[in-house]
Formats: sequence, C-alpha cells, structure tokens
Amino acid sequence: TDIILEVKNLRTQFRTDDGIVKAVDGVSFTLHRGETLGIVGESGSGKSVTNLSIMRLIPSPPGKIVAGEVLFDGRDILKLKKENLRDIRGNRISMIFQDPMTSLNPFLRISTQLIETIVLHQGLSKPAAREKAIEMLKKVGIPNAEKRVDNYPHQFSGGMRQRVMIAMALSCNPKILIADEPTTALDVTIQAQILELMQELSAELGTAQILITHDLGVVAGMCDNICVMYAGRIVEKANADELFEEPKHPYTRGLIKSVPRIDQKKHEKLYSIKGQPPNLIDLPDCCPFHPRCEHAMEICRSRYPAATEFEGGRSVNCWLYDAKEVTL
Ligand code: SF4
Ligand code: MG
Repeated sequence: TDIILEVKNLRTQFRTDDGIVKAVDGVSFTLHRGETLGIVGESGSGKSVTNLSIMRLIPSPPGKIVAGEVLFDGRDILKLKKENLRDIRGNRISMIFQDPMTSLNPFLRISTQLIETIVLHQGLSKPAAREKAIEMLKKVGIPNAEKRVDNYPHQFSGGMRQRVMIAMALSCNPKILIADEPTTALDVTIQAQILELMQELSAELGTAQILITHDLGVVAGMCDNICVMYAGRIVEKANADELFEEPKHPYTRGLIKSVPRIDQKKHEKLYSIKGQPPNLIDLPDCCPFHPRCEHAMEICRSRYPAATEFEGGRSVNCWLYDAKEVTL
C-alpha cells in the first residue's frame, strides 16, 4: 500500500501533582508516501506530544503512552526494542524543531556532525560522507558550502542554522520528516523560504512530511491534508483545499479567521478565538470546545460527538453534523 505511517487511537498521559493530564486522547491518522500532512492547533492541544509519542521521545515519568499503535512500514513503533528504535529515529524518520540548537551540538563543527550522521546512516566512508555533507549544504542553499561546512553552529544566522538542521535531517534520506514549528522563531520572509525549501527537497527525495504548527496560515499552501487538534483530540480532518474552502468545525473556522490576511489594514484587529483551551485534567464528558463555541447546544455540554465521516476521508467531531454519541 501507499500508507507509510498509521497512528491508531494513540493516548499519552502525564502524571502531575494535580492529576493525570490526558495530553493526547485517542488520536488516529494516516500518512501516505510523499504526503505533507499538517497538524494544527493552539499550544497545548497535543500536537507536539503526538509526534514525540510517535518517536517514543516522551519523558517517562511523568509521561506515558497508555494506548494505541504507531504502524510504520507495518511494524508498531510502540512495541519495538530499543535497538530497532534507533534505526527508525533519525534514519527513517527525522525530526526538526523550532530551535535548531536542540539538534545541533554547539561544540562541534557542522562537518563533524553531518559526516557522523551520514557515516552512521548511509555507511559511507568519511571522505565520501564529507562530499555528501557539502552537497547537502548546497542543496539547502548555504553559500560557500565547501568552507562553511567546517563552521560551528553559532557562526550561522538563525535562518541559515535552520537550513543546516534541514540538511542534517534529510542527510539520511528519511521516509518521513517531522517538523515541529520549524520556522516559528524566524521572520516572515525567511519562514517562507525555509518552508519552500522543505517542500522542494521533500518532493525531490520523496519524503513524506508531518508539519506541526499553531499557525494555519503557515501550512495553507504546503499541506495536502490537515488534522486540526483541540484538547488532545483531532476534531477535524480534511484535504487542505476543502478545509480552507469550507471549514466544518467551529474551532477550525476560528483558526482560519485568525490567519492574518494580506489585505488586512494595519488598524484592523486580528480575530482571535475567545476564551482559553480547557484544563486537560478530569475533562468532563463533553465537547471541550463548548465554552468557546457560539453554536454550543445542550448536548455539547454533556456528550462528546463521534466523528461524522464525509466523502474523501473527511471527518469532523461536532454535534452540528448529525454525530453519534461516543463512549470515551
Ligand atoms: Fe460547538 Fe457543539 Fe460542535 Fe462542540 S460539538 S464545536 S460545542 S457545536
Ligand atoms: Mg508544541
């Protein structure tokens, strides 16, 4: 098949002094070869925890994956032994984060770090790996790559460092690249360049991408499909064009309205969804969006809606759409 990653009913929880936080509460989605999937939601909606769970990078304790399956090439990552996990992490699935310094070692030259990754994952000799490292830096648009390859991370600007990190992430030809707010720290123009670069390289290398962001505007032009997360659950799943054309979930509509428009006047205040995301400890059986939803009905306050399925794999969890009751 053409499915490369299948996440089924993933649940990840954190133990805190106040109780159990259900950070990810029954998340399911599939990723196809070469697809770019956006995972969008406010901070605390569970999007990062979802992806850290996929990579088994949840700090435990206090975190724990309590249920679910993560099928990669047919094998459940959640059941793999440590040594097999290492083969997947950074080899078949690469991650990049908002802060490149979390994945670059400040005390080592870029060449040392890239060569090490390439030797480890591709089994090349050191001189061949160095050639490949330079080639990767050129690919991500680092000028003067033959010289710059021997620089330290701090010798690059923020945007250039992000490019180096992308080179690092792609240097092992991963099947999947997971990018968590990859450009949030950068200014808008550089953001656009980096995202474009990721698109180009992924298309060239056939890498599937999971793009995690709080900013629906960022993923608008990049994603094939989008999952919208709220309070640890996916509340809407759709093809990106359809989602923007006709958002079904009231939360998705709010997110779309919050995206700054090009024709926005300076004095116009940007729309933001009123209220705060709920506390994920002891969340009652309800639609957790109800205190913020202008369509909230009686049933929304006492029952969580099951997914209503639409054509083309689209789904939404909202009582406005003839939903069935779900037992959590
Ligand atoms: Fe609003 Fe009810 Fe839909 Fe929740 S289920 S988003 S409260 S209409
Ligand atoms: Mg996050």
